[in-house]
Amino acid sequence: MKVVVVGAGVAGITAAHVLGEHGVDVDVLEASSVIGGRVKGLDDFVDFPIDLGAEWIHTGIKSRPAVFERLLAGDDPRYETFSYRPKTYYRFSNGRLRNWSLLRHLSLGDFKFVDRNWAGVVGDLVTDELRSRIRLGCEVTRIAHGPMGVEVETRDGERIDADRVLVTVPLTILQAGDIEFDPPIPSAQQDEINREVMANGLKVFIEFGERFYPDVTMLCRPLSLRADCAYYDVSLGKRSDRHVLGLFAHGDPAERYIDQGDDEAIFRYVIDELDEIFDGVASTHHLQHVVQNWTAEPFIRGSYSTRRASAKKMSASLGDRVFFAGEAMNSTGRTIAVHGTSESAYLAVEAMLS
Ligand SMILES: Cc1cc2nc3c(=O)[nH]c(=O)nc-3n(C[C@H](O)[C@H](O)[C@H](O)COP(=O)(O)OP(=O)(O)OC[C@H]3O[C@@H](n4cnc5c(N)ncnc54)[C@H](O)[C@@H]3O)c2cc1C
Repeated sequence: MKVVVVGAGVAGITAAHVLGEHGVDVDVLEASSVIGGRVKGLDDFVDFPIDLGAEWIHTGIKSRPAVFERLLAGDDPRYETFSYRPKTYYRFSNGRLRNWSLLRHLSLGDFKFVDRNWAGVVGDLVTDELRSRIRLGCEVTRIAHGPMGVEVETRDGERIDADRVLVTVPLTILQAGDIEFDPPIPSAQQDEINREVMANGLKVFIEFGERFYPDVTMLCRPLSLRADCAYYDVSLGKRSDRHVLGLFAHGDPAERYIDQGDDEAIFRYVIDELDEIFDGVASTHHLQHVVQNWTAEPFIRGSYSTRRASAKKMSASLGDRVFFAGEAMNSTGRTIAVHGTSESAYLAVEAMLS
């Protein structure tokens, strides 16, 4: 059997890995110039690897795909992790910084890597054989499917025949109609896809000469799937003396940063905000920074889904030829996290092979 996988993020890489184990002939077509998608690392910023996308290991989400099973059980000797338990929480609102450290008693079962990042861990799945199957800069624009098989067409006009195709692109790409399906995705399914919202998102990392901030400074209410905005000590739990503060903004709170324009304009807005919160000390201790605007990534265009639609309905296969997997497409509803995404690939491959 020949399978084309569209997209080389966590879902695409997991699927190609598992299909390879089953001896299936796989090609992975990735539009951008890198693998990983929303799992993206920065290894030379400071003396520990940074996660520009996925960062936490959300063990509270119950997906347990085989490729990450030992990691999630805290039992993979390759990856040292620690339980993420910040001690000092503050909330900044209406111009005031207030202590919310009662939140330290809350445990969501989140872990982090001590000296790795998700990009490295997902990269460990990519064997030389699998790497040779991934084609970068290869944007899929059309998928024709019928009883005889599928034909996948790329932006530069290449046509690839296969028995099945697994589509793992972000929801935003399916909503924009950037891939033409022939015959089209049934209207009820396309409506469900359009109903889901993949929120805006960005992360900013700043190295400071001194630490002047608590473990977490929240700018909106915590524990919402649809909105998040906090500065957090990225160095917490790392073996490092460097001081890195992160900003994570998702949903509506991300808009005021993204609206600033380019990365430098976003950074200036962020450093002004930090000066306002911390009495002007942020700009005096600033050493370097990096902005990762996920909404501006041409083949991603957001952060992650906000569970408004049915993942089961969105991910239904088309004529048992076209299958869907990815962050928003885990039919069990365990969306968002890296391992939920990986699980969606297992579910799609299982359906494809049966
Ligand atoms: C800011 C942020 C923070 C996050 N934090 C966490 C966290 O702490 N923990 C956690 O577990 N998860 C987190 N996540 C979620 C996690 O990153 C995702 O669940 C996961 O990476 C999604 O993988 P995917 O394969 O579904 O999609 P993607 O990673 O988006 O991969 C899809 C791929 O398809 C490619 N593509 C798009 N269009 C085409 C086309 N037409 N042809 C070919 N290729 C195409 C894209 O370039 C991309 O590489 C976070 C995500 C973001 C953005």
